[in-house]
Parts: sequence; structure tokens; C-alpha cells
Amino acid sequence: MKPILHPRLVNDVFGDPGLQVNFLYEKRALLFDLGDISAIPNSVLLKVSDVFVSHTHIDHFIGFDHLLRIVFGRGKTLRLYGPENFIANVEGKLAGFTWNLVDKYSQSICLEVVEVREDHLRKARFRAIDKFKRSEESQEPFENGVLLAEPSFTVQTAILEHRVPCLGFSVKEMFHVNVRKDRLDASSFSSGPWLNELKRFIFEGKPDDFMVPVPVNGGKEIKEMALGPLKEDLIFTSPGQKIAYVTDTVYNEENKTRIVNLIAEADVFFCESPFLAEEEERGAERRHLTSRQAGLLAGEAAVKQLRTFHFSPKHKGRESQLQKEAQDAFQEIKNARKDSSPKKNDPHLT
Ligand SMILES: [Zn+2]
Ligand SMILES: [Zn+2]
Repeated sequence: MKPILHPRLVNDVFGDPGLQVNFLYEKRALLFDLGDISAIPNSVLLKVSDVFVSHTHIDHFIGFDHLLRIVFGRGKTLRLYGPENFIANVEGKLAGFTWNLVDKYSQSICLEVVEVREDHLRKARFRAIDKFKRSEESQEPFENGVLLAEPSFTVQTAILEHRVPCLGFSVKEMFHVNVRKDRLDASSFSSGPWLNELKRFIFEGKPDDFMVPVPVNGGKEIKEMALGPLKEDLIFTSPGQKIAYVTDTVYNEENKTRIVNLIAEADVFFCESPFLAEEEERGAERRHLTSRQAGLLAGEAAVKQLRTFHFSPKHKGRESQLQKEAQDAFQEIKNARKDSSPKKNDPHLT
């Protein structure tokens, strides 16, 4: 299976937290947190469609200006999601600049800002052409934590506690569409971008008689073919990928339940761990996780892989200890689960 979602931490483990998720074959990226994003090439920033901000502490939001600088003058809509007070935070950022010449630009960026509350979403728009004045405010019901639902993937959130509300996120591909390479090679069909179109039609749930233009004979001709038989012949589906991102939160019962539900069975779980296992008290006080707590969460949620980040600068030189403590706790829970799961050949169970 060729993964579609390609996650990567923006900075090293001591740098400002942030995750970019690139889509294979698509000119699109998602961004989680807006700290120092100067390491992301402009070509990637221009592909960002949606930005998910956990909270607006400076190490998670100072990159807003940088992103705006890059996308300004582009005629696109950029969606930004954040916790309580987020619309006012964005408005405050925008109010810090002078916008008297914006109407001279032929293209005008629009920021669509979504603020997550426990039971509803608040929305507002800020258009460059209107000198970024707040407009089109609205309110929508908020169900099942779903922030963004597209045919091929969804983004979910959970409101966590960090003395201020802080959002955790997960991205889930609905299912994975695979092409049977052997059948493609044996057919007269050419490979190429049409296969992505084919996948898109499947995600969009197009009917079996929907006609698909298929390049044949090395792309020299185009043949119209019905989606149903193409699917049957060339495609099989498998479970989709899931990526989760949690940062700046405290280890308590309520948060634990919310996090484990959000990140359950993720392929990769990116989790903060500023503090060492022995610093539990400090973590609780500052509303952050320790390495061990990150590992326990990963284990309880049965994720496949755990990647820790957002290490306290105080621990420079001890990154391997922080990593090891997290992985050890993760493994501990995995082993305990293995021991307690029913064994296939256990005679007592037959
Ligand atoms: Zn932070
Ligand atoms: Zn914070």
C-alpha cells in the first residue's frame, strides 16, 4: 500500500511544535500549529489549504504572520481552525498591519476562521479586499468532533485542557484505494494521472455507469469506460491511514479519555513530551505531558507508531532518554495487552 498522507514534523524535537501533512499526487497540504514555520519551503506553504492550531501560545501561533506573508496576494481561501477565542486572536494579528493598498492586488486571499467550542463552531471570514474586516459571522452545530469532512478524509478534534482549551487532532483517510498493478500492466490502459481521477470518482461515490476517460495504447487514444467494470478489474480497497497530533496538555482522567478516543489505532501518533518521566509533578503544574505519559496514551489507544516532540530546552542532550522513556511505556502497555489477549491454542478456550 502506497500511503497517501505524508506527515512530517516541521522542526526538530526542541524547536517550535508543528506538523505538516502532504498528500501524495495532490497539490495540497495540511498544517498543524503555526509556530516557527520558516523551515517549510514556500512551495509547500502555498499548497496549504487548512491550518489547525492547537492553541495560541506564542510557540504555536507566531508563524501566522509568515504564512500570511507567503499566501497574501493569492486568490484562494485558507481555512484556519482553533480553540475558544481564536477568531479574536486572528483578528488581533490582522489588526497589527496596515492594509490601505490591498485593493490594488488583482487576487485577494480570504481567511475562513473556525473557532471550536464544546457544542458549536463559530465562523468568520476576513478578506484582504475588505482590509481584513471581520465578516459573515455564523454559528454551526458541532458533532462527533468532526471539523473537516471530505470524500477521501476527515479531520477530527478533541478539546483538551492546558489551563486554556487546547485542541488535539486526527486525520483519517476514509479507506485506501489500491490499483492492481499486475492487471493494469496486462491491460491496454496507460498508467498516469487518470488513476488519481479514478480514485477520486470512487471516493465521491460516483455510480457504476459513470463514464471515465481512460488513456489507452500509450496515451495515444482515450476510451470512455464505465466506472463499475473498471473498479472491479483494477481496484481493491484497504483500511485508510490515520495520523494523530496532540500537544500541550495535562495527564488527567478526562483528558486521557478524550485523547485515547481521538487517536485510537492511529498509524502514527505525534505527541508532545516536554518532561522526563520523573517530572510528573512539574508536568501537572505546567499542564504538559511527560515522556512516560505520552507512551501510556499511545499504548492505551493501540496506535502503531509513537513519535514524541516539543522537548523542553532544559533537556538538551537528553533527547534519547526522553524518547526511550516514551517508547518503553508504550511497549509496556503493548506487552500487557498481548499477555491478556486470548491465545489461539489455549485449551481452556476451546
Ligand atoms: Zn507549546
Ligand atoms: Zn502551550
